[in-house]
Amino acid sequence: MSRAYIPEAIKQRVAAAARYRCGYCQTQQAIVGYPLHVEHIIPEAAEGASTEDNLWLACSVCNYYKGAQTHALDPITQTSVPLFNPRNQIWPEHFTWSDDGSQIIGLTPVGRATMEALQLNTPFRMHARQRWVSVGWHPPRD
Ligand SMILES: [Zn+2]
Repeated sequence: MSRAYIPEAIKQRVAAAARYRCGYCQTQQAIVGYPLHVEHIIPEAAEGASTEDNLWLACSVCNYYKGAQTHALDPITQTSVPLFNPRNQIWPEHFTWSDDGSQIIGLTPVGRATMEALQLNTPFRMHARQRWVSVGWHPPRD
């Protein structure tokens, strides 16, 4: 798969628009200590364009699990729905945090399908969030 060149100025605008956090799991770049990936919301493998309106930030884990997927099954309704679009959809309308801040809860078919497809609640991720909560770094406040 060829990867299109994305100018640095566009990467910087995308990162700022995403508030330097993963559009799916909300992991903050300042916590992980590496630049989050500028990812294609509709993957290049699915003919997604390398234009700013199809780009957002994702952590390496979400980007890995998302791969070339565009849709996934909602585990409750068993219907195939589009994955969450962090540019066009509002995170709190589709997800919320567990009371202790360690787990992402899908509120809608899109939220639940994305949660499963991107494995947003692996034990490793939840353990890291528990540590971030303990020092006041998580969840993001806005
Ligand atoms: Zn993520």
